[in-house]
Amino acid sequence: GRRFDVVVIGGGAGGLSAAAGLLRRRPNLSVAIVEPSADHFYQPGWTLVGGGVFTAKQTRRSEASLIPKGAEWIRSRVEQILPGEGRVIVADGAPLSYSVLIVAAGIVLNWGGISGLEETLGRNGVTSNYRYDLAPYTWQLVQTLSRGTALFTQPPMPIKCAGAPQKALYLSCDEWRRRGVLDSITVEFDTCTPALFGVPAFVPALMNYIRDYGVDLELSSRLVSVDGTRKVATFERKGDNGPMQIERGFDMLHVVPPQIAPAFVRDSGIADPSGFVAVNPATLQHITYKNIYALGDVAGTGNAKTAAAARKQAPVVALNALATLDGKAPVYAYDGYGGCPLTVERGKIVLAEFGYGGKLMPTLPGWILDGTKPTRLAWFLKKDVMPRLYWEMLKGHEFMVKPEKIAS
Ligand code: FAD
Repeated sequence: GRRFDVVVIGGGAGGLSAAAGLLRRRPNLSVAIVEPSADHFYQPGWTLVGGGVFTAKQTRRSEASLIPKGAEWIRSRVEQILPGEGRVIVADGAPLSYSVLIVAAGIVLNWGGISGLEETLGRNGVTSNYRYDLAPYTWQLVQTLSRGTALFTQPPMPIKCAGAPQKALYLSCDEWRRRGVLDSITVEFDTCTPALFGVPAFVPALMNYIRDYGVDLELSSRLVSVDGTRKVATFERKGDNGPMQIERGFDMLHVVPPQIAPAFVRDSGIADPSGFVAVNPATLQHITYKNIYALGDVAGTGNAKTAAAARKQAPVVALNALATLDGKAPVYAYDGYGGCPLTVERGKIVLAEFGYGGKLMPTLPGWILDGTKPTRLAWFLKKDVMPRLYWEMLKGHEFMVKPEKIAS
C-alpha cells in the first residue's frame, strides 16, 4: 500500500479543517483524506432548511471543491484501522500506511433503532431535519398543516447538536403562529433527556417559548416505534410501576434518530466503552496510540458535538499532529468549547456556548450578546455569518481561535 505522513478519515467539518490546518502550516506534508461521499454538507444549515429560511442546495458543495490543495482525496470508506501496524484498510484499494492518523468520521444516525421508522421516513407526515433530502419535507409539512397533532422527538444523548430537535419544534410553532393556526394544533415535544437542555443557564429562556407556544413538554419520553400508515407513534415513559408505553396519533412527526459511534472505530480497538475514540479531552491524542488523534463527533470527549467544537479542535489537532511527526509531545489543548444556536423563533436565537462540564464560554461580551436570552444579533450570526465562517474553516482559516498552550 501507499504511505502518507498523515491519513485523515472523513472529509467532513473536522477532517477537512484539520487537514487544511496541517497543510497551511507545512505545505509539503503528504496528506490523504479518505471520504466516500461526493458531496459535503453544511449540516447546521438543515435547521434553517426545515424552517423555510435556506434552500437545501445552499447547504451542499462538492467534496472535490473542498479538498485542500496538496491533499489527496481517496474516495473510499475506511473499514478498519490497524493501530499497531500504522495502517488503514479501505473498502476499495490497497491499505494506506500513516505516520499520524486523524479520525474524523463523525457520528452514525441509527434510523433502524426505531422500529418502523425507515419504512415511513419522508411519507405519512414523518420527517427529520437530520437528513439533507428530508429537511425540505419538514418545511412542506409545516406549511400545509393547519390542525391536528404535531410530535417532535429527541433521542438519548449523545447526539450531534443536542439543540437541533427543539430548533425544529420552535421554528414550526413560529410559522403556525404567524399563520394563525397554532391554537388548532396540538404540539408535543418528547425528549429522552431529564431536562429541556443540558446546561441550566439556557433553560429559562427556552421554557418561556415552550409556554408561549403552548407545547406539551414530555421529559424522559423515548420514541420506540412508528406506524406510518396508522400515523401512530409509540413512546416509552416512566410510570409509577416501571416503564409504560404510550401511543400518540400524529399528523406530523419530526424525528431525530438515536446516534452511535461508527462500528469500525470499536472494531479497530481504539474506542472507549461508549464506542467513540478514546482520546485525551485536552490534547485530542489517543490515550494508547500516540500517533492517533480524533476530532469532531467521533471523538470520545464530553463537549457538545457541534461544528462549533470542530472549529476549535481542528487547530489543536493540526498543531499536536505536527509535534508528533517531529517526535515531540503534544503542545496545545482544546478547552471543550461547543456552540448551539437555538432558533427559538424566526429572527431570534438563544446562543448557547459552553465548554466541558457545562461551563459558560461566550465568544462575545455579555453587553454585546447575552447568550442566555433570545437575541436578533445571534440570528444574524447564524444566518449570515456562521455559514461563511464554516466554509472558510474548511480551508484552514482559524478566525478567533487561539489554541491554549499546555504549561510545561
Ligand atoms: P461530519 O461533518 O458529519 O463528517 C464526517 C465525515 O466522515 C462524513 O463526510 C462521512 O461521509 C465520513 N465518513 C463516515 N464514515 C467513514 C468511513 N468509514 N471512512 C471514511 N469516511 C467516513 N453544529 C453546530 O456547530 N451548530 C449547529 O447549529 C448545528 N446544527 C446541526 C443541525 C443538524 C440538523 C445536524 C445534523 C447537525 C448540526 N450540527 C451543528 C452538528 C455538526 O454538523 C456536526 O457536529 C459536525 O458536522 C461534525 O463534524 P465531523 O467532521 O465530526 O462530522
